[in-house]
Amino acid sequence: MAQTTSRTPTAPPAKRPEGQWAFDQREPLNANEQLKQEDDGLNVRERIETVYARQGFASIPGDDLRGRMRWWGLYTQRRPGIDGGRTATLEPHELEDEYFMLRVRCDGGTLNLRQLRTIAGVSQEFGRGTADITDRQNIQLHWIRIEDVPEIWRRLESVGLSTQEACGDVPRVIIGSPVAGVAADEIIDGTPAVEAIRDRYIGDPAYSNLPRKFKTAISGSPHQDVAHEINDVAFVGVVHPELGPGFDLWVGGALSTNPMLGKRLGAFVTLEQVPEVWCGVVGIFRDYGYRRLRTRARLKFLLADWGTEVFRRVLETEYLGRALPDGPEPPPPPTGRRDHVGVHPQKDGRFYVGAAPAVGRVSGPVLTALADLVEEAGSDRVQLTTEQKLVVLDVEAPRVDALVDGLDSLGLQVRTASTFRRGTMACTGIEFCKLAIVETKGRATALVGELERRLPTFDQPITINVNGCPNSCARIQTADIGLKGVLAGDEEGYQVHLGGGLGLTSGLGRTLRGLRVPSSELPDYVERVTRRFDEQRQPDELFAQW
Ligand code: SF4
Repeated sequence: MAQTTSRTPTAPPAKRPEGQWAFDQREPLNANEQLKQEDDGLNVRERIETVYARQGFASIPGDDLRGRMRWWGLYTQRRPGIDGGRTATLEPHELEDEYFMLRVRCDGGTLNLRQLRTIAGVSQEFGRGTADITDRQNIQLHWIRIEDVPEIWRRLESVGLSTQEACGDVPRVIIGSPVAGVAADEIIDGTPAVEAIRDRYIGDPAYSNLPRKFKTAISGSPHQDVAHEINDVAFVGVVHPELGPGFDLWVGGALSTNPMLGKRLGAFVTLEQVPEVWCGVVGIFRDYGYRRLRTRARLKFLLADWGTEVFRRVLETEYLGRALPDGPEPPPPPTGRRDHVGVHPQKDGRFYVGAAPAVGRVSGPVLTALADLVEEAGSDRVQLTTEQKLVVLDVEAPRVDALVDGLDSLGLQVRTASTFRRGTMACTGIEFCKLAIVETKGRATALVGELERRLPTFDQPITINVNGCPNSCARIQTADIGLKGVLAGDEEGYQVHLGGGLGLTSGLGRTLRGLRVPSSELPDYVERVTRRFDEQRQPDELFAQW
């Protein structure tokens, strides 16, 4: 049931008006709030189907084009040939092309064979073969024409996929452990909670006008494999000494500018309670979240002002109507990699096989060939990971080697993936993103190749995350080496963040202020830092501990 905002709030108001609905500040305070109040973003779908797709790009008014269409996963993409120096100076209509990026949400990271084939087909028929796996388990397609969107939706929805609320001020894709339900060391399978939230609340108008985006992560893996610290709400698998397996509740994580890691509320949540508690947290965000300034409109700012005690009290008294039991802190994740790349035994005796495309870049033809391989291997399930990788589940032992060879031949490396291939991610960047200042995917791929050539024996885990602008879509502040696109004189370059991490080494990296590495010197710089780490590290010391 959707929560209403008619009760008397018990939470303290912000020291100055912040546009919180719970205190009746519903007057639109800025253009974004006005747009959402005038017409819910979800309503744009009908106009796309009945008007824009028939009359073409020019028929789309600006408030739908650059606003509400995000509620259905559509962003205009960057016009080719515009360099990063002009990103901040051009008007939106000058920056954008008449094509769209379309984000397909894959809640829990799950795709069955029909879904995989459908995405591959859409990519080839409508997206010039493009497809990228994002670090939130989505697949992004590019070069989409508005005329084709209704047919794309028809195909995606016929196999249970959706682009609804893939972008916009809404609950985005719910990320889940890629090995939920199969991992031998799993604490609890969060899949029923992922599916319940998706089925009950995605597309519910009660939650389609939030102050800004709202990110969810659910994982019962002891490896903490969903980057829970940087989600607005996260459920982390833990065993309660009396109540058994369940989840530890975290709130208020987010990166971008003003990065903050999420905080534990100290509350234990059973699997069955997850959707209700999720609903309470998103309700708090909707009702109390700051709407005055878009730069302060994430849940992390409200949590920073309230603190965890007040937040938990409001959740329990105003939204749940009862107290949650205290719960234990999850133990640190085991050391070692948690990207699921390689061949691993499942608890049912079969195997899962994790593969590493370069920085998440695949394509329609690769996804079609992947689907063929998965079928030949007797599987029906592929999982996307939060490291821009993929995992094939449910493979019988005799079929593993053929699958591994097939994946390798597609550039989806399994046993041959270097530490650099495994640890490097990149956001969309200047190729398609209107906010980008620099190129990312191609440069990160080239960087991986250079590092493999220059440091062929280096095998320690290391994460290198490359962003095209300060927005941190590729989580630069939580990488060992985070690279943020900037201009270095006339050349594209990168500001460096060092020593960030998640899980065992959870923390934000330190920014090396004043250092801007020109793109032409990037391989030299990363090689130097990596060599120094390798020479100076203690046995078993991780980069973030160095
Ligand atoms: Fe675009 Fe910046 Fe996000 Fe990269 S980090 S995808 S350049 S907004």
